[in-house]
Amino acid sequence: MARIPHVIGGEKIDAAERIQPVYNPATGEQQHELGIASAATVEQAIAAAQAALPMWRKTSLTKRADVFFNLRQLLKQRTPELAAIVTSEHGKVLSDAAGEIARGLENVEFASGLLHLLKGERDEQVSTGVDVHSVKQPVGVVAAITPFNFPVMVPLWMIASAIACGNTVVLKPSERDPSASVFIADLFREAGLPDGVLNVVHGDKVAVDTLLDSPTVKAISFVGSTPIARYIYERAAANGKRVQALGGAKNHMLVMPDADLNMTADAAVSAAYGSAGERCMAVSVVVAVGGVGDELVAKIAERMSKLTIGDGTDPASEMGPLITQEAKDRVESYVAGAAAEGGVVVVDGRETQFEGNGFFTGVSLIDHVKTDSKVYREEIFGPVLAVVRVDTYEEGLQLINDHQFGNGTAIFTRDGGAARQFEFEVEAGMVGINVPIPVPVGAFSFGGWKDSLFGDAHIYGPESVHFYTRSKVITTRWPNPDQSRVDLGFPSNS
Ligand code: NAD
Repeated sequence: MARIPHVIGGEKIDAAERIQPVYNPATGEQQHELGIASAATVEQAIAAAQAALPMWRKTSLTKRADVFFNLRQLLKQRTPELAAIVTSEHGKVLSDAAGEIARGLENVEFASGLLHLLKGERDEQVSTGVDVHSVKQPVGVVAAITPFNFPVMVPLWMIASAIACGNTVVLKPSERDPSASVFIADLFREAGLPDGVLNVVHGDKVAVDTLLDSPTVKAISFVGSTPIARYIYERAAANGKRVQALGGAKNHMLVMPDADLNMTADAAVSAAYGSAGERCMAVSVVVAVGGVGDELVAKIAERMSKLTIGDGTDPASEMGPLITQEAKDRVESYVAGAAAEGGVVVVDGRETQFEGNGFFTGVSLIDHVKTDSKVYREEIFGPVLAVVRVDTYEEGLQLINDHQFGNGTAIFTRDGGAARQFEFEVEAGMVGINVPIPVPVGAFSFGGWKDSLFGDAHIYGPESVHFYTRSKVITTRWPNPDQSRVDLGFPSNS
C-alpha cells in the first residue's frame, strides 16, 4: 500500500515513527498509509525551511510573483486531478472539491500582487534634511497547521501569503486527508518555488508540539477545533511566537418574518448540508422569528427529502460521507439525544439506509431546539440543522451574541433597516445579508470572533500581510556640508 511522503527540502521523505491509515470515507476502506513524523523529522523540516530562508528573502519580488502566476495556471489546469484526490480522502463531492480549489486560488491571486502588498510608506523632510520610510520584512520560518475539512483551501489561506511575503514554511496538514498538501507542494515546485521554501510534514500532536516549541519557528497559523486552537494559541504565545488560531463555529441564520421563504429554505439546506455540514461556515442553527417557523421548517424538510447522498465521485451525488466512522458516530449521537433534550426530530438522518461500509449518515432537522441543549450549544460538524423559535428580532440577536462562537452569521430579510441594524449589532466576524455562507473573497480577510479565533490577526487577505511581516522604520539623513555640525541635544524635529 502506498505510503504518503513528507516533503522536506524538495525531497520526498519516507520517515515514520508510527504508521496510520488514510481511508476513503465513501467505501470505508484504507487506501494509503501515512507515516507519522517523529520530532526529529519535524526538526529536519524546520532546518530545511531555515536553510532556504536567506535565499528566498533575497529573491526579487518579481521572481516571487512569477511563482504565483505560474501556480495559478497549474492549479487551474490540474483542478480535476486535485479535486479527485480531495474527494477520495475527504469524501466531499467532486464539484465541492473543485469549489474549494477555486476559493483557494483567490489566495494565490492575492499573493501574486505582492509588489503592491509589500509597499512601505515614506515621509519626506520630517525634520530638516531627514526622511523616514518603512519596509515590511518576513518574520522567518512559519508553521501552518490545518484541519481535515478543506485540505486545499485552508493550506492556501496560509502558505500563499506567507511565501509571498518572503517567509519559508513548514505545513502540517490534517492526518486524515494529507495527500492534497503533497500535491500542492509538487505544484509549487513546478511553478518555480525553490526547494525548502515549502515543506510538508505529516503528523499528530508530537509534530505540532515540535513546531510550537521550536525557537526557529517565528509564527504559527492554525485552523481547527476550538479546544486545540486555544491550546495552540497559549503554547505558541508562551513561547513568544506570533499566533493566529482559528477555531470552531455554530453559525446562526436569523430569518425575519418578511424573508422570502423559498430563497431562505434553499439557502438553509445548501448551507447546512453542503459538504455534509463539515464546513466551519456551515449554517447549523436557523433562528425563526415571529411565526415563520412552521412554514420554513416544512419547506426545508421538503427540500431535504430530494437530496442525493452518495459517493462523491458520482456526479449525481450532492452530499458525500463524513470523514471517519468516529465522526459519523459522534454526529448521530447528537441526533439520538435531541428528543430527550426537548427538540423535535423532524427528519432523522440515521434512518437513511446506505449500502457498503462508507461513513455515510443522512441529513437531520431538529425543530424547537432548546438553547441549553447540547445540539444547540456544541459544534456538531455534521449534517444536522437545529431550528430555534423566537418571537422578536431582539431575542434572536441576543441568542447569537450570547453564543460561545462568533464565526459567521446571516440574516434573511427584505428589510434593509433590519439588515443594517443586524450588521451593526451582531457579534460575529463574518456576516451575510441574504447570503448564507459569507466567506470573504480573497481581497478581504477571514476570521471569527469570540471562541472562533484566538489571536488578533484574521487569516489571508490584507491581515495576512501584516501577520507574516515585521515592519522596520528607517530614518535617513544624507551628508549636506551646509547643515553638518556637532549637536549633543536629543534628536528633535527642526
Ligand atoms: P482538529 O482540531 O482536530 O485538527 C486540526 C489540526 O490540529 C490537525 O492538523 C491535527 O493534526 C492537529 N491536532 C489535533 N489534535 C491535536 C492536539 N491534541 N495537539 C496538537 N495538534 C492537534 O480539527 P479537525 O477535526 O481537523 O477540523 C474540524 C474543526 O476545524 C472544526 O471545529 C471546524 O469548525 C474547524 N475549522 C475552523 C475553520 C475556521 O476558519 N474557523 C475553518 C475550518 C475548520
